[in-house]
Amino acid sequence: MTTSARLLIVGPQGSGKGTQGVRVAEALNIPVVSTGDIFRANIKAGTELGQQVTAILEAGDLVPDELTSEIVRDRLSQEDAADGFLLDGYPRNTTQVAHLDAFLAESDAALAAVILLDVPREESLTRLRLRAVEQGRSDDTDEAIAHRLDIYEHETAPIISVYEQRGIVDRIDGVGSLDEITARISAALSARGIGQLV
Ligand code: AMP
Repeated sequence: MTTSARLLIVGPQGSGKGTQGVRVAEALNIPVVSTGDIFRANIKAGTELGQQVTAILEAGDLVPDELTSEIVRDRLSQEDAADGFLLDGYPRNTTQVAHLDAFLAESDAALAAVILLDVPREESLTRLRLRAVEQGRSDDTDEAIAHRLDIYEHETAPIISVYEQRGIVDRIDGVGSLDEITARISAALSARGIGQLV
């Protein structure tokens, strides 16, 4: 059993991928690399990158691929990600998949598994509206939420077929309690010889 792995967690906004991603990464002792978190941290700190992407995030659009991939490349080149990491929110379209493939190929590496959290659109919508009220996220307006779910269906869902062809997708039912879902992910990763989460 290996405890380090290169993983990706995918799912529509509101699928709980952020929460589950942190749980999985902590259990495996690998860093979470969340592009959404990186962008939000830069916006909060008022960096040049933050200023560049503020309007894009508020509209629920995608930050340009080249810029996003460069940021991920920098982050994955850091020491703590050398043996494993969990990507959350990247790649988000097939262009970004190609960028990630090229980067990983430089060190003869590849993703070991893609955790796909399956949540129906209606359930995602309900959860996102609740989060908007609870956390007051400025990109959680009704319009931006619907727009982001559309982008997910049109641009992000196709990356699943690319990874399915490689045989590395674990489709996980994302409806249930946090612990139930973590246990499902754990079982799927264990079946691939990756870690012991619980
Ligand atoms: P998330 O927290 O993953 O929902 O991301 C929040 C927002 O950050 C998205 O709606 C996009 O505007 C931007 N973003 C995050 N990841 C990416 C990515 N891989 N490519 C382009 N834009 C992204």
